[in-house]
Amino acid sequence: MDYRYDHILIRYGELSLKGKNRNSFIKQLYHNVKKALANFPTLEYERQHDRMYIYLHDEDPEKVSDVLATVFGISSFSLAIQVPSDMDVIIQAAKNSVDLSTKKTFKVAARRSDKNFPYISDTINRQVAGEILRNSDWKVDVHHPDVKIVIEVHKEFTYIMTNRRAGAGGYPVGVGGKAIMLLSGGIDSPVASYLLMKRGVHIEAIHFAAPPYTSQNAQEKVLTLAKMLSGYQGEILVHIVPFTQLQLAIYQHADESYAITLMRRMMMRIAEGMAKKRHAQAIGTGESVGQVASQTLESMQTINAVTNMPVIRPVVCMDKVEIIDLARKIGTYETSILPYEDCCTIFDPKAPATKPRIDRCEKYEARWDWASMVQDCIDQCEDIVVRPEATQEDIF
Ligand code: ATP
Ligand code: MG
Repeated sequence: MDYRYDHILIRYGELSLKGKNRNSFIKQLYHNVKKALANFPTLEYERQHDRMYIYLHDEDPEKVSDVLATVFGISSFSLAIQVPSDMDVIIQAAKNSVDLSTKKTFKVAARRSDKNFPYISDTINRQVAGEILRNSDWKVDVHHPDVKIVIEVHKEFTYIMTNRRAGAGGYPVGVGGKAIMLLSGGIDSPVASYLLMKRGVHIEAIHFAAPPYTSQNAQEKVLTLAKMLSGYQGEILVHIVPFTQLQLAIYQHADESYAITLMRRMMMRIAEGMAKKRHAQAIGTGESVGQVASQTLESMQTINAVTNMPVIRPVVCMDKVEIIDLARKIGTYETSILPYEDCCTIFDPKAPATKPRIDRCEKYEARWDWASMVQDCIDQCEDIVVRPEATQEDIF
């Protein structure tokens, strides 16, 4: 008989902690899993209170596993075989589920949820292990086995699982509301985006472009980064803000040392306006304390003063080295370091204020009608949806 993997068993992540929200979390995870695996049409899904099952049918278990490993809200999953709860069948299936040709250490861990099954778990362990020992050079190691064979005996069926794979952790994207994420082409904001999504927050990205001072390449780079991140939530809506006029106005009306602070205050106002328009509850940024002049606490205070909305800064206390490690892990680093100009760098002031004051910002801002320009920026955004597959990009 052929006992190849026929399904995947998914164990829920942190959501098991959230008592009364549990049902909506499971529902969201179920939806996200199906969406992530939409390219595998013959899969069949079943959700239960404490687990989810995916029946593989004709799909490649490894390819499905690779996609599944990016879905937040899953603590771990295993490829599994379902067999009738019959001792002889279980023994054979367990033996056939592993490749005995290379020498390994192993352990069998059986659990009987059907107490009417005529053998206790210790007997199942011994019989399965005995069969493997007789047919291979494998050795038992109960503490640090290379392979752990898990056997779960239920009333009608028994599940045999050999390789448990770590899930992405976190919460299912969508259960934590929505945030407008300020996405530059740098290293930090893609990592911050990933961390926000991992907390279950759906993001829409906002990017400030200043053509012709910033190039089409710079914009493409941001879209590439968004595309890389989009797999975690299915797709990302990117709002490209035409920021040039507002930036020029800042340089016309304010002292150069305040230009960056004023620009950031405008970014916050535009992000807040977009958040209201798009029914988001927070703004996200890739700021990190002390990294540059605009990221001292005094600076953050002055920038933050223009909005009452929560501003989430997921990498705020991480070292640059830690951020870079994570950027490498999620695959955005190589793109982030491509040398295209950002709207913040083109007008790089020689001596930016490290302790910008709110009253001085307000004095400069009183010199022109910035509010209508902020509104124009919100109204005139170009909205682009990016998805993991290069072919499915559309503009609306
Ligand atoms: P990053 O690597 O994310 O660009 P950074 O260390 O270069 O961060 P800054 O350039 O000072 O820091 O930007 C701080 C944050 O402001 C960014 O993480 C991002 O959230 C936001 N930001 C900066 N420039 C832009 C932009 N052109 N469009 C959207 N957001 C931006
Ligand atoms: Mg930057």
